[in-house]
Amino acid sequence: MKLNKTVLITGANRGIGRAIACRLASEGYDLALHCRSNIGELESVAQSIEKEFGIKASLLQFDVSDRVGTKAALEKYLSEFGAPYGVVCNAGVTADNSFPAMLGEEWDGVINTNLGSFYNVLHPLVMPMVSSRKPGRIVTMSSVSGVMGNRGQVNYSASKAGVIGATKALALELAKRNITVNCVAPGLIETDMVSEDVVENALKVIPAQRMGKPEEVAATVSFLLSEGAAYITRQVISVNGGMI
Ligand code: NDP
Repeated sequence: MKLNKTVLITGANRGIGRAIACRLASEGYDLALHCRSNIGELESVAQSIEKEFGIKASLLQFDVSDRVGTKAALEKYLSEFGAPYGVVCNAGVTADNSFPAMLGEEWDGVINTNLGSFYNVLHPLVMPMVSSRKPGRIVTMSSVSGVMGNRGQVNYSASKAGVIGATKALALELAKRNITVNCVAPGLIETDMVSEDVVENALKVIPAQRMGKPEEVAATVSFLLSEGAAYITRQVISVNGGMI
């Protein structure tokens, strides 16, 4: 069943973003899928979605930490397709190090990608969404690390805590416009982002005693995008097996 609603997902070529794309396609959303570098991988996600669900996604490629390039790519998208119904700000990176050893580039890279992208991606999209005068949805991706802090991730925790603050503030600004803004905070999820050496220790603090699956994060994002979630805004939903 086609919904005639488009959702733009950043970082959709792999990991959690790819799982979100597949889940939303299975529910009949039209999709705009984004990646930074691996356009071949993104094309194969789009092909499998088209084959399985008959959804032809449009593809976007830009670095979310590059404000000028992101704006240009999104304005081009908007001029062709108009404002999307939903945006999922999923793209993110880590550059872990103990704080005394942390390089300036590790701080800047993570802050500019994970938090800078909130402005870079959403600023060009929000006014067109408001002007469309239709209900809308924004979902951002934080982390358990942004909720409670995590050693070796001072940069990442700061960026993901910043995403929570920005999400809650934007939710206040857009609530009257029927656009909800919520944040998903995953725990430890099986993707390329998680290196094997952290898993053993991390499992000790996960009551569910396992890592989460990208599909389990995608299910929460899908719920927040649904019509049934129209009265949920300014919230942080954790998907973490009971970690906090
Ligand atoms: P992956 O490393 O598997 O994928 C990261 C995605 O982000 C890729 O699509 C990548 O694109 C994209 N990306 C990274 N940097 C940029 C950039 N500068 N510009 C544009 N795109 C970029 O990560 P996950 O799927 O695990 O993570 C997705 C989100 O979930 C992130 O925000 C992450 O912080 C968050 N998260 C993940 C957790 C986990 O345990 N996995 C836990 C908590 C939160 P490309 O491949 O082209 O580089």
